[in-house]
Amino acid sequence: MALIISLLALFGLIFGSFLTVLIYRLPLGQSIAYPPSHCERCNKRIKWYDNIPLVSYIIIGGKCRYCKSKISPIYPLIELLNALIWIATYLIFGLSVYSVLYMLTFSILITISAIDFKHQIIPDSLNIAVGILGVIATVYSIFNPFVDSIILGYNVLWWERLIGSIGGGLLFLMLYYSFKVLRKIEALGGGDIKFIITIGLLLGCKLTLLTIGFSAIFASIYLIIKAIVNKDVTAPFAFGPFLCLGAFSALCFGNYLIDLYLSLF
Ligand SMILES: [Zn+2]
Repeated sequence: MALIISLLALFGLIFGSFLTVLIYRLPLGQSIAYPPSHCERCNKRIKWYDNIPLVSYIIIGGKCRYCKSKISPIYPLIELLNALIWIATYLIFGLSVYSVLYMLTFSILITISAIDFKHQIIPDSLNIAVGILGVIATVYSIFNPFVDSIILGYNVLWWERLIGSIGGGLLFLMLYYSFKVLRKIEALGGGDIKFIITIGLLLGCKLTLLTIGFSAIFASIYLIIKAIVNKDVTAPFAFGPFLCLGAFSALCFGNYLIDLYLSLF
């Protein structure tokens, strides 16, 4: 177990480093493979020993070795977050096909949150990536309908996944048009709608509903805090990070919460 956790920490950091490339380059429409990592200010190429996730940032003190310009601490934090989430996923779900799917999903959720927060868009490529994982989960659940009940403690059957996807999409479309017609505002972006359709396949219908509920609660808390510190609450904000946090919470704790709730009656 200690070995698996060490490996997850290592590969989680390396994959997290790849995520920071996506977060920086995808919204700018740059290639994710070329050019190799370089300083954003002086354009000097970053040597491999300065590009070790987390470690290099600490050793070179968060500054470019050549021009001494500051490197945002967001990048090492994202690497660390990805490693921690991979370890947490293993501790919650053990080693299984679903664990691997969830780890990749959570990594994409981190990427979507960071990009949406900064640029207020969810790139189609990331929604497609979630969709591919969703299709894999759905196909897997057709052939192994009860395997997840052993691993996850609950079942998400293939048709529940389809209902989650289609139902979530329809619900968001309805919300989108009612806000547009009644209040003349775009409360949801096209990226949010595509996101709920693709993540719905991973969540199934119950957890999709829970995700929408969670994200509404998280966004409300955010707006309340904004109001308390006297920031403009009518300004548009990215809903993606709240959806991602909602989906993450629903996948990790959703069924536990549903059971807890049902046991009250
Ligand atoms: Zn530099």
